[in-house]
Amino acid sequence: MSREYQVCIRCVMDTSAADIVFAEDGTCNFCTDFLTAAHWQPPSPGALGRLAERVRKAGKRSQYDCLIGVSGGVDSSWVLHQAVALGLRPLAVHMDNGWNSELAQNNIANLVRTLNVDLVTHVVDWEEYRDLMQQLLDADVVDVELLYDNAMLAVNYRTAARFGIRYILGGTNAATEGIRMPVGWNWFKWDKRQIKYFAKATSTGRLASFPAIGTLDYVWYRWGRKIDWLSLLDHMAYEKDVALRELQRLYQYKPYPYKHYESVFTRFYQGFLLPRKFGIDKRRVHLAALVTTGQLDRDIAMRMCDGIAYPDESSLEDDREYFVKKMRWTDADLETYLARPPRAHSEFPSEQGVWQRLDRIYRRMARSD
Ligand SMILES: [Zn+2]
Repeated sequence: MSREYQVCIRCVMDTSAADIVFAEDGTCNFCTDFLTAAHWQPPSPGALGRLAERVRKAGKRSQYDCLIGVSGGVDSSWVLHQAVALGLRPLAVHMDNGWNSELAQNNIANLVRTLNVDLVTHVVDWEEYRDLMQQLLDADVVDVELLYDNAMLAVNYRTAARFGIRYILGGTNAATEGIRMPVGWNWFKWDKRQIKYFAKATSTGRLASFPAIGTLDYVWYRWGRKIDWLSLLDHMAYEKDVALRELQRLYQYKPYPYKHYESVFTRFYQGFLLPRKFGIDKRRVHLAALVTTGQLDRDIAMRMCDGIAYPDESSLEDDREYFVKKMRWTDADLETYLARPPRAHSEFPSEQGVWQRLDRIYRRMARSD
């Protein structure tokens, strides 16, 4: 960390991102790449209607024509609202990994009840999940959320296959997530091999009921079962503020102070463990996207990056106590964890290389078509 501190004059990314590069005018590669990327274009008129038509047509003989994973956050809630407004017949899927806040549960319940949408909740085995989390925390790797994100993908694809659904509508979007994660801030999310490796050290010595998904599973779902992932919000003008106000008005939706704070672990991880152990503050990436797309004033965003990523010290303290108790740790365990140096995911077995090789082949084939 010998580098001199610098923050981008256009967004709010700073030298905590190891791969940030500043141009002479003081702007950075993160917001520049975002602004020049092809995916950041205003949606063409009619694109949304055509997309909905495609989904409706593919599912006209099924009970549901699309599947939507809901976390209780604004993005996925807005996708569900929009899908119903477009006349689609979604099946909502939620994964409960034991860390959901009551607020998130209530938001989901209100939403599906008012919209009259069927909901499948997948409850993961807490003992197995805790054991796996313990292994990732013991390994000092950055992306403990690999477990949640991988299992959520697995549950989405499995459920879609079970109900014969061809389209998964995701809450992923460029307008609020278009700034990419800096290198080393997270890990490849389809890494079943790495999860299996960590499972060897758990009490059962293997993956039991944990719904993992890997590269070859993805290939099967995508080309064998022809299940497609669509980022619905990229096909419309998506403004988070507007979405939130509508969700509050229509579904008594209760907001969270920061992105992804619907899970108690996620907010403790993003608000405390990541900044303290890894020097990472994910608020920068989320806010940088909003600033770059003109949804948030840069001065306000800069002020929002100051201080702890919690509304106040006492809510941080509540989460710290909850985390320690639920993980069956002591305060000393937490201190020991924080004091140990981080290790890279690439030090452990991984299938990232397989994914990258297949991706290169696929792109070459797509070009020669
Ligand atoms: Zn920038």
